[in-house]
Formats: sequence, C-alpha cells, structure tokens
Amino acid sequence: MWNLFYIFVFIITSGSGAFEDNRPYKQPNDPSTRFQSPPPFNESYQFIVLTGGKVYGLPTNSNSETEYTCTPERKDVVIASGKILSIMDPSKTTAFIDSIRDSKLTILPISVQDHIVIPGLVDVHVHAIGGGGEQGPYSRTPESRLSQLINGGLTTIVGILGTDGVTRSLSSLLQKMKSLQHDGLTTWMWTGSYRIPIVTLTGSLQQDVLLIDKIIGAGELALSDHRSSWPSKDELKQLLSDVRVAGMLSGKAGVIHFHMGSAPTKIDLLWQILNETTIPIQHMYLTHMSSRGDALIEEAKKWIQVGGMCDFTADADVLNETATVETLNKFRAEKLPLKQISVSSDAYGSFPEYDSSGRLVSYSMGLPDLTLKTIQNLVLKYSWPIAEAIQFSTSNPATYLNLKGKGFLGEGYDADVLVLNETDLTPLYVIGRGQILKTPTWVKHDMFEQFSG
Ligand SMILES: [Zn+2]
Repeated sequence: MWNLFYIFVFIITSGSGAFEDNRPYKQPNDPSTRFQSPPPFNESYQFIVLTGGKVYGLPTNSNSETEYTCTPERKDVVIASGKILSIMDPSKTTAFIDSIRDSKLTILPISVQDHIVIPGLVDVHVHAIGGGGEQGPYSRTPESRLSQLINGGLTTIVGILGTDGVTRSLSSLLQKMKSLQHDGLTTWMWTGSYRIPIVTLTGSLQQDVLLIDKIIGAGELALSDHRSSWPSKDELKQLLSDVRVAGMLSGKAGVIHFHMGSAPTKIDLLWQILNETTIPIQHMYLTHMSSRGDALIEEAKKWIQVGGMCDFTADADVLNETATVETLNKFRAEKLPLKQISVSSDAYGSFPEYDSSGRLVSYSMGLPDLTLKTIQNLVLKYSWPIAEAIQFSTSNPATYLNLKGKGFLGEGYDADVLVLNETDLTPLYVIGRGQILKTPTWVKHDMFEQFSG
C-alpha cells in the first residue's frame, strides 16, 4: 500500500485537471428531481473509497499479470485520479478516511458491504455505430446508447463496422469511439469491415494501426461466411503480415479479428497459413466460434490448445441461444485453456437467422448486457466461481489485446470497477476511469453524507 505522504504528493502533482467534468449526464437543478439524479460524483471528490465489498480480479503476486487470485478478498478499493490507488486492508480504512477528512482533500466513501466488486467489463466486439442492413435499408440497426453500455457493466469497448463498410464509415466509428471515451468509457476500434480490399481510414491497414491511437487491428474480416469476400490465402498472408508489423511498430497487439461463418471451409485457410509461414497464431483472433455448430467448436478447441485465441459471442435470450454457455461448460469440464477465450456481446450487430437455402427467416439485434448475462448464467445457473466466470470479459481480452490498465483490480490499474449485487449479480455501481457512471436507483445524496468511517 502506498503511504500517505506519497498519496498527497500524487494528488498535488496530478493536479485538479485530472478530475475534469466528463459526466455523461449533468445534474439537473430542479429540486423535484434531485433525489433521482446521480450522486455527487463531481470533481470536488479527490478520493472514492469502496468499503466492505468482496473484491475479485486482483492480479496474482507473480510477475505474470494474466491470472487472478482465485478467492475473493475483503478489501477496500481506494480510487484517485482515475486510477486504483490502493487495495486497502479494511482495518486501515477508517484511519485513512479520517486523515483525508482532516485535510483539505475531499473523499467520497461508498459502502458496498458484502457486494461483489470486479473489474469493469471489456467487450471486444461492439457495433457502436450500428450494423446490419442485410434485409435492406430498413434493417439497419441503431447506434449504441451510452446508458445501455453502462447498464451492461461495460467500461472498455472495441468498436467494429461489420457487414456494411460502404454506408457505415470508419471515420464515423472513430468519432463515436471518441465520444464514448469522453463520456467515461475507454474505447478502441478495429479498422476494416467484412471484406477485402480492406476499407481503411488512411489508405492502408499498416498506417491505420500505426498512426491512429484507437485502432488496435483489423476486423471483423469475414471468413467462411456467405457474406464474406472470400479472400485468398495469399491475400490473408499479406494482411496478417501487415498487421503484425504495424502492431510491432506501434506497441499494439496487431491482430486481425476474423468473423467466422458456418461454411464447411471453417478455418482451413488459417491452418494452412500457420503451416506455411512464420506468422504467429496470436495475430489471428477468431470470433463467433461457439455460435456455428459442433464442427467449428471442435476447431475452437484445437485452436486454443495450440495457443490461439477465440472469442465467443454471448448467447441471446430472445433467440433462446445457449451455445456459448454450453461450450464454456464443456471446455471447462475438459480442462481446456480457458485463458485463450473471450466473450463479447456483438452489441448492435444484427442477428439474422437463415434457412438452409440462405433465405432470411428472422432478424434481431445484440444488446450490450449480453456479456454480463453470460457471467450471471455461469455463476448463478452453473455454479462457476466468480473469479473464473469473469475472466472472459476482463483479464483474458485485456491481456491478449495488450489493453494497458484494463482487466484487473490492482494498484495502478485504471479505476474501471463494477459493483454487483451479491444475490443476482446485477450492476449497482459502474465506475469508469474513476467516474461514477451508474449508481443504484435507491441511492440518495444524503446517504453519502451520512457515511461514517
Ligand atoms: Zn460478426
């Protein structure tokens, strides 16, 4: 734990500008709405302390940051300047809070007694400016809404285009990601769309990854899908080499996120490329791998066993989908390397269903709470330990994609924190980079003032 002197130095040197007013919603002055509006998470609070929760997602003490400690710890979480300043032993918290109150600094203690405290969720596949359109213009899906993203517990998202790389543009996506970043989330994006020649912002994949901070790779490039542009093996080799080198030069993961369809060619081309070249498997990130039937699930199994990374699309209740939760249960029972799997929502993407002749039979849309619902399902229905169930949307994607400061609740990490109700794992508080984005509906201003150590 940092000593108090260091904390003061930290605050003084970080300056008040660290708490710029990025709130998505301003507090109305109307007294009648005063008690329904968000609590006072304004810039006057230099510290937030979450007390009494069961904290998951602490990095292990080993040098490797890719694992959690397995058991929850009764710790208090101290947040300052958008970072986790300390994971504090509760016996020291009262004295800490008192010392701050004696100073000119301000502190907001929040009791989260017995609730579950986990890292904010990372969603690598969000159609942030909408997607779809496969049934004509009327079937375009709407743009993402900040409140829905927050209510889904998401604090980090990677935006994506999808099928339509003509009327949906990367410039629009980039602007949307900047907007969500301003509002308290942390955002990155993929360049490209389903097809090749790949659409880019600057004219080349390498320049996009190298020159635009928010772009971490390309995707979702469609393979073995009836909407794919069926790239050749040589074309894929070129793209993978380009993204790898651009990743190296920019210090990013540099991966291609492949949308997998259900054609029998599966991931054959990628296996061939692995055999014929020295391009490492970590530059090939496969998604929808649990959603296309047993043959592709078998491929996913082989892929993660040789060190590859697979993304599973969270099940959609409205479609009675269970494939992802079933696959996770199966893989866990078989002791497969679960660290090689992430789960994403495909939010605001269309969920078209086709019959065997390729005709559309139904059409719906993914929502951003699907990743959290997967965690709820695994824990509440299948008795997974929370530490295991959350990895797919926290540490696994953050580590794989080299998202610095994300995926763990450790000192020095970004203060992206999710407080879940202990009984049903619904979100009570969502904190993004130290800003309280969501509070429980029952919270009133006064409750914060009444807190005593
Ligand atoms: Zn897709």
